Amino acid sequence: MHILVTGGAGYIGSHTVVSLIEEGHSVVVVDNLSNSQLSALDSVKKITGKDIPFYHVDVTVESELEKVFQAHSFDGLIHFAGLKAVGESVEKPLAYYYNNLVSTMVLAKLAQAYGVNRFVFSSSATVYGDNQVPFHEGLDLLPTTNPYGETKAMSERILSDAAKANPNFAVSILRYFNPVGAHESGLIGESPNGIPNNLMPFVTQVAKGKLKQLRVFGNDYDTVDGTGVRDYIHVVDLAEGHVAALNHLTEGAHIFNLGTGKGTSVLELVEAFEKANEIEVPYEIVDRRPGDIASCYAEASKAKKELGWTAKKGIVEMCRDSWKFEKNFQG
Ligand code: NAD
Ligand code: UDP
Repeated sequence: MHILVTGGAGYIGSHTVVSLIEEGHSVVVVDNLSNSQLSALDSVKKITGKDIPFYHVDVTVESELEKVFQAHSFDGLIHFAGLKAVGESVEKPLAYYYNNLVSTMVLAKLAQAYGVNRFVFSSSATVYGDNQVPFHEGLDLLPTTNPYGETKAMSERILSDAAKANPNFAVSILRYFNPVGAHESGLIGESPNGIPNNLMPFVTQVAKGKLKQLRVFGNDYDTVDGTGVRDYIHVVDLAEGHVAALNHLTEGAHIFNLGTGKGTSVLELVEAFEKANEIEVPYEIVDRRPGDIASCYAEASKAKKELGWTAKKGIVEMCRDSWKFEKNFQG
């Protein structure tokens, strides 16, 4: 299939472009490079041997995006483009609502106008809010604590309504748990701007000596050791989940968790990282981070049953590949 990938220069997008090409699809990337660099696509070329047609376009700008639809005949699209920093979304709610909602609406409108009826969307486990674990797709969503999470819940509704109104439109809504890791080549991975908010990039930067020590946000949660539990998923597994979703699209909007189904605490992850890479990660326990929940992990059986997809890589590979990328990264 010929696939449009928005946000394809970013962390999850670039890994998915690799998986798509490896599965024999052709890809066009659109990105405004607001949180990525074009060099990621050079690295994708090194891995796959393929040039990736690229458009430096903002997905919220309909007239610009329409030129891409005019120039290609797509069979489907994957929409990664979006702003994703939870804390920043609290400070800049309008920028988040505008970027994440308008991009989804413009893209859905053009997709329908040009008969591109396969639409895969990046959602997030954050839409579940502080629900009972494990989170399964049938749960009623609880309010999230931030505008970022709200943009994901609203985009899900917009796409579900669009699919309801158009019997040809097939939408797959993928709720990611916590993506970590990097391509095994070490050529592409996650390189956040400034001080990382997320655990794994913080850990790798402490290991590298860029940051002094990890701050563990709270050890008094009702979890195995008191620290927060999350469902970490290797980004290459996640990328393959997108290819599976594209291959199994059927009319209507369908929601899938992409997670491993296994919870790992902060201290378990630190220990696994130290062991996998034989390197120390100093840490201190500090207060809870506002807005954090104790536990978040997936009920992962629906994607296995309906998409034939399941995560294969464990926490050791996640820690090893994250560290390999960080060591290579000149930033
Ligand atoms: P990322 O920031 O690395 O990638 C997003 C890409 O979209 C970037 O390359 C950015 O430049 C581009 N972009 C943003 N707004 C754009 C616009 N208006 N027009 C064109 N390009 C635009 O983030 P990621 O981690 O790869 O996340 C991809 C998607 O998955 C996002 O929608 C994110 O919200 C979602 N998601 C991410 C996580 C995570 O933890 N990484 C978890 C759940 C969901
Ligand atoms: N965390 C931490 N120190 C950090 C970053 C995160 O202790 O510097 C904890 C956080 O409280 C949560 C887990 O690690 O329990 C995962 O946090 P992350 O921000 O990576 O993902 P999210 O909270 O969005 O699931």
